[in-house]
Amino acid sequence: MKKIIPVMKNQDIIMTIQDISAEGEGIGKYEGYTLFVPKALPGETIKARVLKVKGNFGYAKVEELLEPSAARQEADCPAGPLCGGCTLQHIKYEETLKIKQKQIQDCLERIGGLTGIEVMPVLGMAIPMHYRNKVQYPIRQGKNGAAQIGFFAPNSHRIIEAPTCCQQDPHTDLILQTIRQMMAKHNITAYQEETGRGLFRHCVIRKSALHKNFHLTLVINAKSISPNIKNAIIETFAGDPQISGVSINFHTEKNNVIMGRQTECILGEQYVEDYIGKYKFLISPNSFFQINSAMTEVLYQKALEYASLTGRERVFDLYCGIGTISLFLAEKAKEVIGVEIVPEAIADARENAKRNGIENAEFYVGKAEEVFPKLYAEGRGADVIVVDPPRKGLEPAVIETIRQMQPERVVYVSCNPATLARDLKLFVGEEKEEEREGSVLTGSQGQESSLATGKKLARYQVMKVQGVDMFARGGHVETVCLLVKV
Ligand code: SAH
Repeated sequence: MKKIIPVMKNQDIIMTIQDISAEGEGIGKYEGYTLFVPKALPGETIKARVLKVKGNFGYAKVEELLEPSAARQEADCPAGPLCGGCTLQHIKYEETLKIKQKQIQDCLERIGGLTGIEVMPVLGMAIPMHYRNKVQYPIRQGKNGAAQIGFFAPNSHRIIEAPTCCQQDPHTDLILQTIRQMMAKHNITAYQEETGRGLFRHCVIRKSALHKNFHLTLVINAKSISPNIKNAIIETFAGDPQISGVSINFHTEKNNVIMGRQTECILGEQYVEDYIGKYKFLISPNSFFQINSAMTEVLYQKALEYASLTGRERVFDLYCGIGTISLFLAEKAKEVIGVEIVPEAIADARENAKRNGIENAEFYVGKAEEVFPKLYAEGRGADVIVVDPPRKGLEPAVIETIRQMQPERVVYVSCNPATLARDLKLFVGEEKEEEREGSVLTGSQGQESSLATGKKLARYQVMKVQGVDMFARGGHVETVCLLVKV
């Protein structure tokens, strides 16, 4: 039977918002039909205009706030109305922390089937402004032929050249202005997505809080840089005391990935040097570094606390990046083994260990799902394992190997509560037989063993879950979770 949808496009309706999505959209029901309404808050009654109608849900926009929420605030960012970045900026900061706590809790329950777990209140920033140490802006050719550098308008690739937003260092505005002037003066073309032509496609600016300066990477649509353009860049930035170095990244593929694989430093330092806590880190342009250094320290301290190290433990740090968490762990453990897919990041990790006087950390390049099972097959074990995967979460092979290796504790650092919850379900190991690939339930006690190896798989209990507000004013949240072997 065809479902009757009670609204039509462009219809105005009165509705009450009940919840908020991970993307910061208000969610309400109109005669049982779900509508997502950006910038509407739970508890608010609004007049909404229906914009899009789909089978199971639709989208609407706020026409009038009939009963506003007490949690609402005026957006205070210069880029605010234009930018789609800070999806929670219309909500008082304290309230955004509660929303994120609930988001984690909901994911654990809905996706992970984990009930009765206490999610601690999200640790927030004292001043949730100007915290980003990295910005990346697209460079595109505007209608009048001049280069435009700014952010993409929400859900589009139209460039908005707004003033620097409330997350970034205001000095980046000056750097963008200098790039625009340089491009005009030297007739440097900007990328066009439709034709794949034009030279400059992105600029990535990384700030060093340690040295109070910036490293600039210009991503160009070419396999090499001509001497003229190279000289123009050097001439422009050589005398700038705020710029520690300029790198060129070569990226000729037609896709939305920001950086290509090859990078060449053409001026000053190739690396950014920064610190988290008492450790200093070298970061090369292709390596990952957390974007909010202040909250990263909070996050790592929490991970360290959950790891409860005494000095005797063998520890794995999977998805270790430039070895940041590894160094925090190494001081308190017997040995740390880091695994990471990006070769430059592992080169940075080895150098960072050396520079910080850490001698008990080893690093391996490769996919965690391949390198880690191989190390286990060679007889390596662990007492504690820390994982910090990208948003897509852990590969099943990583979870399976951890459960075979049976460390006492697993500390899961996650930037996506949905994949965290999905993975925790596998650690807890109570899913039905037919839901798993590669392992089955055996025995009357319900102990599992791997189909591939026949080895026993440990079960884990979720002991602690703590959110950390790495992305203040935006919808995302970082979570640290402690799992203990049952
Ligand atoms: N723990 C680090 C990095 C976390 S970000 C920190 O706090 O800075 C996730 C990291 O996982 C990135 O460095 C990314 O390059 C790496 N990565 C992505 N896929 C991977 C895979 N399949 N195996 C190993 N590392 C991977």
